[in-house]
Amino acid sequence: MLEKYPEKVLKNRKKHITIVDTNQACQQIEANTRTIPGIITQRGCAYAGCKGVVVGPIKDMVHIVHGPIGCAFYAWGTRRNKARADDNTPPEKMFSTLCVSTDMQESDIVFGGEKKLAKMIDEVVEMFHPRAVSICATCPVGLIGDDLGAVAKAAQERHGIQVLSFNCEGYKGVSQSAGHHIANNNLMENVIGTGPERDPNDKYVINILGEYNIGGDGWEMERILGDIGYKVNCVLTGDTSYLEIKNLHQAHLNLVQCHRSINYIAEMMETKYGTPWLKVNFIGVEATKKSLREMALCFGDEELIRKTEEVIAREEARIMPVIEHYRKICQGKTAFAFVGGSRSHHYMHLLRDLGMEVVVAGYEFAHRDDYEGRQVIPTLKIDADSKNIPELHLSPDPEKFKDAHVHLNMSKEKFDELNKKVPLNYYEGMQPDMKDGEIMIDDCNHHELEKMVRALKPDLVFAGVRDKYYVQKLGVPAKQMHSYDYSGPYAGYNGALNFARDVANAITTPAWKLVTAPWEKQTQ
Ligand code: SF4
Repeated sequence: MLEKYPEKVLKNRKKHITIVDTNQACQQIEANTRTIPGIITQRGCAYAGCKGVVVGPIKDMVHIVHGPIGCAFYAWGTRRNKARADDNTPPEKMFSTLCVSTDMQESDIVFGGEKKLAKMIDEVVEMFHPRAVSICATCPVGLIGDDLGAVAKAAQERHGIQVLSFNCEGYKGVSQSAGHHIANNNLMENVIGTGPERDPNDKYVINILGEYNIGGDGWEMERILGDIGYKVNCVLTGDTSYLEIKNLHQAHLNLVQCHRSINYIAEMMETKYGTPWLKVNFIGVEATKKSLREMALCFGDEELIRKTEEVIAREEARIMPVIEHYRKICQGKTAFAFVGGSRSHHYMHLLRDLGMEVVVAGYEFAHRDDYEGRQVIPTLKIDADSKNIPELHLSPDPEKFKDAHVHLNMSKEKFDELNKKVPLNYYEGMQPDMKDGEIMIDDCNHHELEKMVRALKPDLVFAGVRDKYYVQKLGVPAKQMHSYDYSGPYAGYNGALNFARDVANAITTPAWKLVTAPWEKQTQ
């Protein structure tokens, strides 16, 4: 696979590929470094990470893409972040399906786009009356030096609503990961913690961070958690509102689903408010059960633990006979998972529920801690992202900070005991869940994926937007895991059923055996 590369490229790419050997204590993998020019990467840009992932789903804000219309295309609901009106957000305050762009032309690039942007903010406020507005910068805006912050500040004073500007120009980082970081910083600095206090008598109040409600995943998680007795304060940012994000600080515990895109807020909230966080995974029957049990331990309440077991038993009794049916079809099959910055790890668990093994796993935009665990963070080198994105140096809020054990309503001694059983404020990464001989690969490109598909012949590939179709051209089914190919939800118990059905359908359809290119037929 690597032999075609020039020597320098070969040396670089080798560091991004690890064959798992569990006898070695710590296998290092290179990640979050710039893709070598000329290689066709599957990565997105910083703007895609900021607008497309974190900020775009906030449903009661109008999000303006300041740039040429091409960048805005991907702002138009392509991630299937589902949202609906609710008690906090009436239908007339729902804007997440809109695509709003300043549509910069040549003259704007030459003479500057600030006036056009200011006019657009005035128009959207007049037309839609949103609770807040965001502006996301694209590459040309950074190159010509439009001052987004100044335009946003003036508009905020004119209209009396918050106007957030994100300097998330596409080139700002190695990948979309830089955009997540920029979005996290701005929300933390300017929105979180500005909402009113909630009823102090509310018990088991949680946030779900890094859950984007693709295909309704967040709704399924909320269903299960609601049945147990949790109060979901905010899902960041799936089906969420600006109002809910202002109140993010009011939860007793933060759950972190996608570690890569949201770990910054989890960590900053730990510093500023003392809120503990727990890495969870609601993708997979066993993974969901583990997460629910760890959550219950965090609150240490006997009634909550009993209710958790009751819901687990009820849901498993309902779905396991169907899962068993699909397991018979899927047992022994292999898959590649090459998605996002946490998803490959998440789906490994659900595929194991179906008797399948992920033999190659990797990420587009992960950092080393997503592979190797957070213990490597102090050893990470300063990367291109860190140079471009200022770290926020926060200190405990004098009024709102509480120790973690106070958030969880338990004594310090009990909390110390809990810490021995449950890995609070920690993520162990994907590698510990991989087996000997399996391949971990970072920033995998077209050439490498094609070579591995031909050599290892997986039964199914879980891919992103760009790699799905050429995998299918090789005669191997590929599921697009950024939008679920119009299916889902895949989280929780109902999600496991949907996923099992979709996977069984994908690997049993005879269509893939008919995919032979005409020129291949002629040589037979
Ligand atoms: S890389 Fe730049 S030009 Fe391309 S989509 Fe991203 S912001 Fe737009």
